[in-house]
Amino acid sequence: MILCICSCRRWFLFLIIAVGSAACAPSPFATLQTPTPFPTSTYPPQQFMQPIPTIAIDAQTPLPTPLKQLLASVTPVATRPEPATPTLRTVMLATPTLRPTSTQTPIPTATIPPTPLSPCTERIPADSLLTIVTRQYPISADYVPADLVPLSDYFAHEITFGYGTHVRAELITPLLGIMQAMDAAEGLAPTIISGYRSYSTQAIAREKWEKQYPDRVDQLSAPPGTSEHQLGTTVDFGSPMLENQFHTNFYLTPEGKWLEEHAHEYGFTLSYPLAAYPITQFYYEPWHFRYVGVDLATRLHESNMTLTEYQLLMLPEPCIP
Ligand SMILES: [Zn+2]
Repeated sequence: MILCICSCRRWFLFLIIAVGSAACAPSPFATLQTPTPFPTSTYPPQQFMQPIPTIAIDAQTPLPTPLKQLLASVTPVATRPEPATPTLRTVMLATPTLRPTSTQTPIPTATIPPTPLSPCTERIPADSLLTIVTRQYPISADYVPADLVPLSDYFAHEITFGYGTHVRAELITPLLGIMQAMDAAEGLAPTIISGYRSYSTQAIAREKWEKQYPDRVDQLSAPPGTSEHQLGTTVDFGSPMLENQFHTNFYLTPEGKWLEEHAHEYGFTLSYPLAAYPITQFYYEPWHFRYVGVDLATRLHESNMTLTEYQLLMLPEPCIP
């Protein structure tokens, strides 16, 4: 597993969020969200694929020692006090205000590429829901979403653990929809265990893994700039069945199954499906979902296509910062 880009939630608690901004020229490709016809995936349906070897944390794979320590710090859900209204754990605070945080930084116009005909002028602005983030096409080190809001302002403690996880404001409504729908489904108790992660947070996490597991660092942690979490539009869900830990078996949990079937209805897409490694260069992360809007998420779901493949097929080649 793949702690990869998702594994450092607890480090996230101790790190300072980098403040900065990135800028790109406005994209003329906004209408590409609804292409006609929709492209065809170039990788076969998952049922015809052999499962890729992963380094997933499972019963047969000993946990790396640092991970054991991290996971040991998590209080099992069973020991947490029950919420006052356990049948509807999602709590929308009275009159929530989608306010920008102190991380808001105006996009500087000075960084717009000076050459209009350069391919870089076609780079989708970082605040776009379709910004490409891959190992080949990282995003700028100083990019911080301008509209980050704390999840704790909108969700109950047992969903966020009270940590200072942030996401872009646009995600709040669809996340509330997901949580309320899952609460309504019997036996589901989803949590959100990671959201926005700054470039510097990712860099420090990467450095730690590199020192301890230099041969496996690419599997354990994404290089800074290549994590979708820096976009603020990506969240990692958890399940009490796994004590809200990152685990490949998340796809077997009631929450994982529900998300696989319904997340697109709320605009979220599974970024790194099983068998998509040749395209995404990330191992299977059944807990990691990125918000792209209902229309595109539904098209991706119905066509068995990853967002990365869609982006590389349909969007102009991005610039590398
Ligand atoms: Zn993730």
